[in-house]
Amino acid sequence: MSILALARPDIVSLKAYSHASWDPAFERLHANELPWRAETDRSLAGLNRYPEPHPHVLAQRLAALYEVRAEQLLPGRGSDESIDLLVRGFCRAAVDNVVICPPTFGMYAVAARIQGAQVREVPLAAARGFALDIAGVLDACDATTKIVFLCSPNNPTGNAMDPAAIEQLLVALADRSLVVVDEAYLEFSGDASLTTSLARFPNLVVLRTLSKAYGLAGARVGSLIAAPEIVALLAKVIPPYSIPQLTIEAVLATLAAPQLAIQRERVAQIRAERERLRLALANCRSVQKIWPSVANFLLVDFVDAEAVLGAARAARLLIRDMRNVSPHSLRISVGSPEQNDRLIRSIP
Ligand code: PMP
Repeated sequence: MSILALARPDIVSLKAYSHASWDPAFERLHANELPWRAETDRSLAGLNRYPEPHPHVLAQRLAALYEVRAEQLLPGRGSDESIDLLVRGFCRAAVDNVVICPPTFGMYAVAARIQGAQVREVPLAAARGFALDIAGVLDACDATTKIVFLCSPNNPTGNAMDPAAIEQLLVALADRSLVVVDEAYLEFSGDASLTTSLARFPNLVVLRTLSKAYGLAGARVGSLIAAPEIVALLAKVIPPYSIPQLTIEAVLATLAAPQLAIQRERVAQIRAERERLRLALANCRSVQKIWPSVANFLLVDFVDAEAVLGAARAARLLIRDMRNVSPHSLRISVGSPEQNDRLIRSIP
């Protein structure tokens, strides 16, 4: 069975927008652009020109970074757009559903609801360190479940899901549902990506982003990595020219070898700071529990979360209110050594 049997039939048969042809060897009198750059334009290619409709050079560079083939990768405006494309491409409004495992990243549910898909929740097992409830997920899935969203390492809990548990779901849901594994924080864990399992599981989709470990949150670049049929299908749904030229240039510069080495050192520094922050927090009387984290944040339960939020604000620091997880929970992103020191000093 082709994995596209799970997709919306109207999207499978959709004829993609036919954009102006792309050939940088010619001068462009076919796209109704202005022939001159704006005075302020410092870009390499010129912002008076549309960027490449589907940015192949960017896709190739990202594919090399993530060690996959370019036809397995679709660049988008952050993982947020990848999530949106998946629900739009696979879920029929008012018919299909997605399964999420809270507490988790909020956009899976929001994107599904915008598309008119039902959201089924199968909570992670807090008593088992927020592990996946495999039986619960399988019970929640039926013939109209098109996507199971997993996040590993998970936001906001910080733990990685057991790869064997994810494989169990991929096998049980083969031909039935996509299993999307959001690896936004993978670089901070040092674990291997599930992309190495793509050849074995046509229903696996992996999401990566440059927003976290690569310091490019403001550029907005995520990668959807999946079977080439899925990539080709969703390439019809993403608008042409969606990745701005400034972003393409910023990414190509940041992924050059010397910059990559610097980014990797910074990830190592964040990992070291994560441990330093954990030890310092463990000495605070107001801390009840620090959940083990392999990401660049810590989920921390405080005796009085409200007081800690207020104290952080007084030190001009924002931390994330996670009292939807438990009345005591806050999420703290690992910052620079100076920011972490300031946070620690602020805690009552
Ligand atoms: N996935 C997870 C788990 C996240 O925490 C976030 C951002 N907080 C995203 C995706 C969105 O990332 P992007 O900037 O790539 O859209």
